[in-house]
Amino acid sequence: MAVKSVALVAHDNKKKELVDWVEDNRTRFAPLTLYATGTTGRLLRDNLGRDDIHCLLSGPLGGDQQIGAKIAEGEIDLLVFFWDPLEPQPHDPDIKALLRIAALWNIPVACNRATAEFILTSAYMTDDQHHPKKPDFSDYTGRSVST
Ligand code: PGA
Repeated sequence: MAVKSVALVAHDNKKKELVDWVEDNRTRFAPLTLYATGTTGRLLRDNLGRDDIHCLLSGPLGGDQQIGAKIAEGEIDLLVFFWDPLEPQPHDPDIKALLRIAALWNIPVACNRATAEFILTSAYMTDDQHHPKKPDFSDYTGRSVST
């Protein structure tokens, strides 16, 4: 069975909520491959006792962009991104870029616990036959551009 990969990111005021949610759903997460931005990943490792979480750089140091690159390369099936709607972030352009690339590549995105619960409990999560339709960018990549 194809193992699904989930990317987990939470801003500082949302980290506890994300860690609590993942802990509450420990069994559902057990078979999943997990990627996370640096600090989020460290907290998940410490609280879940899972040392197989792929921790990238901290978000403001490039971690959001690393996840975006993995999405573009088809390595991520689901993005759980608990961003903070009440606090400006120094890496706002990276946050926008991550959400943009997830929308571009038709990746499911959960930005709060309610949505994350709907997605995590979806039958698609355990259906290895289901793959969201991959966008066709051939018109874009093949467009004529004058030089
Ligand atoms: P962090 O990054 O997990 O390293 O805190 C999250 C973010 O702010 O993008």
